[in-house]
Formats: sequence, C-alpha cells, structure tokens
Amino acid sequence: MSRTYRGRFAPSPSGFLHFGSLVAALASYLDAKHNNGQWLVRIEDIDPPREKAGASAEILKTLENYGLHWDEDVLYQSQQSNIYREVLAELKKQNLSYYCRCTRAQIKAIGGIYQGHCRDLAQPQTDSAIRVINTTGVSQFNDLIQQQVTCNKELAQEDFIVLRKDGLFAYQLAVVVDDIFQNISHVIRGCDLLEPTARQLSFYQILQHTAPKFGHFPLAVTKPGFKLSKQNNAQAVDKHNPIPSLLSALNFLGQQPPAALQQASVSEILIWATDNWSITQVPNSKEIVL
Ligand code: GLU
Ligand code: ZN
Repeated sequence: MSRTYRGRFAPSPSGFLHFGSLVAALASYLDAKHNNGQWLVRIEDIDPPREKAGASAEILKTLENYGLHWDEDVLYQSQQSNIYREVLAELKKQNLSYYCRCTRAQIKAIGGIYQGHCRDLAQPQTDSAIRVINTTGVSQFNDLIQQQVTCNKELAQEDFIVLRKDGLFAYQLAVVVDDIFQNISHVIRGCDLLEPTARQLSFYQILQHTAPKFGHFPLAVTKPGFKLSKQNNAQAVDKHNPIPSLLSALNFLGQQPPAALQQASVSEILIWATDNWSITQVPNSKEIVL
C-alpha cells in the first residue's frame, strides 16, 4: 500500500520569490494536488545571517496571490530547535557523530573531500562542528524526473556536518528531520539539490527511517552553470500579476498550457494544471537557460 501523498515547498527566507522558486512551489504543488495529496509550506529560517527581513511574509503573500494555498500551518524551522537537538543527542548516544575542528582551507588542501580526520581524535566541543559518521554513502538513486542519478561517490561517502562550527544547525540535519517530522512522502525540487539528496538518503538510512521519493526538475539558469538565485539578484515574480509568470512556469515544466488560459483566472489555470499535470513531461535535463 502506498503512503498518502504529502509534499512540501521549503523556501529559505533569504529573498523574495523569483522565477526559480515559483517553479519549485508550482511543481511541488501540482504533483501533490494531482495525486490527491497534501501540500505543505515550510520556511527554512535556520540561517539568520542569510535571512532578509520581511522575506517570509512576502513569500507567503506571493504564494497566496498565485493561488498556491497550503494545507496545514506553515512550519518554521526556527521553531524546531528542540527536535534537532534531540536528534543530535541520539546520534551522539549511538556513537554516530563526532566533533570536528577542521577548517575549510584544510579540507580544500587535501582535495576538497573530508577524510574523517577528527573521527578518533575526541576533539573538544568548543569551536567544533559535529559530523555524522556516514556508514552508508548512498551515491545513486532513482529520481521521478531524472531517472537513474549517479553522484560523486567520494562526496557521497563523506562524513557530513550536522551542526556548524558557528552553532547553527546544518541544512542536511534540519531538512531530513523536518521531512520526517512532517511525514513527507514526496520531495519535488530543483536539480541544484541532487548531490544533497544523495547525502540525505544516507542520512535517512543512518536514522533508520524510510526516505521520501524524490523528483528534481531542471534548474532555471541565466547562462549554463549560473542559477537564477536570490544571491545573483534574480527579480522577484510580480505578486500583483500572477498569470504571465504562472503560464511561463508551466511551460518551463513542459506542461504546454493552451493559449486560451491566457484569458483565464488564476484558479482556472491551477485547476487545468492540476488535472493535466504530467511529471513525465517535465524535461529531464539538469538546467534550462531562460
Ligand atoms: N530551503 C532550500 C532552498 O531554498 C530548499 C530545501 C529543499 O527543498 O529541500 O534552497
Ligand atoms: Zn575534522
């Protein structure tokens, strides 16, 4: 029996919703709704230095204007610290983690892949990161859009950071713990997260928990290798004029909305898109130049 479908959109509030993040919201929404599932929104606000004031509220308002209504209360990662700490304590108890004091420069000097230097050194807690002992090293997985994905094997086997040296929870920890916490069954997101997915699949195994299914759509890029991101000042989608961006995002996802939808309302477009959603029509390239 298949689990009930629960999908999510998990933006970081480091800026406003741009075309790339609209595609992420829309793809995860449509795949959930087409499969009679729930669609949740989680604000990944675990990195205060990268946060932009007002971004969370702006993202949520834009989603509403685009007719992308979520099914349960928004979960804020900043409210989840106790759960992350519990998981860290459990890893420690099971001897599955250790303190690491290596710097980025040191790791770069040995080729960029962490080799477990601090594993047996019993480093002190202060000024240390916490790494997980990666016993599984998943480097291949089957993707709903990209089919068979193969990642860098050495990178996939790395002991990865779950608590940063600056005391902030690492993305890998928070995202897996929350996807488990929210009982997420399907993760539909961009190809910039393919390597992290391998790592997250390792983490699910370490935590002895069933992983969700993953589907990665192509990344929107300005030129090959340059993703549209809040960091390179990608423009916010127009929250007062959703229809053109919605139709562009559907085209980007290979859904071929009929021309007549240009005269339709937001909710009519979403009804059409939900009914006609076909994940097999999403291009299986890693990126698309806009
Ligand atoms: N918060 C991440 C981002 O905005 C996405 C995380 C995810 O979808 O797993 O890039
Ligand atoms: Zn180390």
